[in-house]
Amino acid sequence: MRPLADYHTHTRWSHASGSVEDNLRAAEAMSLEAVGIAEHGPNMLFIGVARRRWPRLAEKIAAHNGRATRLLFNIEANVISLEGDIDLPADVAAHIDMLLVGLHPHVIPKGLENWWTYYGLRWLSLLSRRQRHKLYDAYTEALINCVERHPVDIVVHPGYRLPIDSAALAAACARRGVRLEINCRHLDAIAADISIAARTSQVEFVLSSDAHHPREIGRFQSGCTFADSLGIDRARIINVDWQEKQR
Ligand SMILES: [Zn+2]
Ligand SMILES: [Zn+2]
Repeated sequence: MRPLADYHTHTRWSHASGSVEDNLRAAEAMSLEAVGIAEHGPNMLFIGVARRRWPRLAEKIAAHNGRATRLLFNIEANVISLEGDIDLPADVAAHIDMLLVGLHPHVIPKGLENWWTYYGLRWLSLLSRRQRHKLYDAYTEALINCVERHPVDIVVHPGYRLPIDSAALAAACARRGVRLEINCRHLDAIAADISIAARTSQVEFVLSSDAHHPREIGRFQSGCTFADSLGIDRARIINVDWQEKQR
């Protein structure tokens, strides 16, 4: 197995420990074809990259054009409303290479109504099964609306910390040609969701390291073993060459 590309890595621009250059060098050392810097959108509490800093990050990434490993300007955007709004800054949208989206527990939602769902309902869901179902439906709706409204490439760590109807999400992604992420950092937390998605749809998958340190980049062995253990057809994982040995 040889990893071809790692689309989801972090740097010091958010909360990880390497620089953009460190991540690129690590990816080159692994002979990856591409590595994505996918920092958290600005509405992520504490670690999101502020709106005003994105153009500078874009410049920094563009300065490495023409290298053997392509450096991609990606974003891990947050879904911030039930309607599927995301926190992709408007002036950045035209410049990104790939749009990754996902649900995270600690974000600044759009509008009062969404504050209620993201925090009030979430709190109530700890107490009542009915509210838990409501929240599950709300998060599922938010993600599906997002996939249908935006040119999404990848939905990251489906089901991680916030339960969703993975079969419905996978069906929507398959329809739209959106990939689901097998996130090597959170394999246990997403196992049930990935398994359901694989069994109930034809959705394709990408493996990601979600690296918080350059040494984690392109380290997909655990994810490959995980995918094999779930019986996922290897052809459905698009960023791994299963024939070739890791260099
Ligand atoms: Zn994430
Ligand atoms: Zn991430």
